[in-house]
Amino acid sequence: MTRTLAVANQKGGVAKTTTVASLGAALAAAGRRVLLVDLDPQGSLTFSLGHDPDALESSVHEVLLGDVAASDVLLETVDGPSLLPATIDLAGAEAMLLMRAGREFALRRALGTIAADFDVVLIDCPPSLGVLTLNGLTAADEVLVPLQCETLAHRGVGQLLRTVADVQAITNPGLTLLGVLPTLYDARTTHSRDVLADVSGRYGVDLLAPPIPRTVRFAEASASGSSVLHGRKNKGGEAYRQLAANLLAHWDGGADLVLVDAG
Ligand code: ADP
Ligand code: MG
Repeated sequence: MTRTLAVANQKGGVAKTTTVASLGAALAAAGRRVLLVDLDPQGSLTFSLGHDPDALESSVHEVLLGDVAASDVLLETVDGPSLLPATIDLAGAEAMLLMRAGREFALRRALGTIAADFDVVLIDCPPSLGVLTLNGLTAADEVLVPLQCETLAHRGVGQLLRTVADVQAITNPGLTLLGVLPTLYDARTTHSRDVLADVSGRYGVDLLAPPIPRTVRFAEASASGSSVLHGRKNKGGEAYRQLAANLLAHWDGGADLVLVDAG
């Protein structure tokens, strides 16, 4: 059975793309067949995995419009996962899809044709709650919400949870909120911990372990065309390996997810 996980938060800069690239690499290293889907017109995931969005003939854009088969657009990446890439054309998909029936189901339908070739599909959603994110949530079994551990991090979480509830009610009753993943976490300050306690207290959401530490290796990695798991050992890559192990124990063996105790 294929697991499809959407990584969503309408706020930019919370490590959605980093999480998809790094978790994808960790799952591939654990022997899983992984597909990464870039749903952001900025194409950051595509670019960070070594492909130039401006040089691509076709992308997830044409796939969503039903003009090209998903299998014809897949690319390989250095880290192992396959990639359904994005180009800036995707910025127009929002408007094109608005005129189509069943617009929230376009990605779900497209992935249905290739899902059997993969064990895990990770979807990198754009920083908005528009039709592309609705496609990501409608195609997914589960949703993971990266949250940067900073002041006012909770702003927007309520709106995102309402969107998830709408999707559960209307387009995807099977969608499960896996939890919030704390990112850009600084263990040396009490501030990061206070933010997590605030978010978990306010919304009653689970905080997935481990928190992903803030480290400069991520900026270096995204400029190099491979994820932070590639190359020298570092605590960022290690955290994503642990997250992968946490998810695999849950998916394979039905283990309870390991959570952060926000106190
Ligand atoms: P989003 O997709 O949510 O907009 P990104 O994954 O693009 O966020 O991350 C935003 C920026 O933060 C990028 O420059 C990325 O390299 C950096 N970043 C992500 N995670 C970390 C981390 N754990 N430590 C340091 N920098 C990080
Ligand atoms: Mg992104």
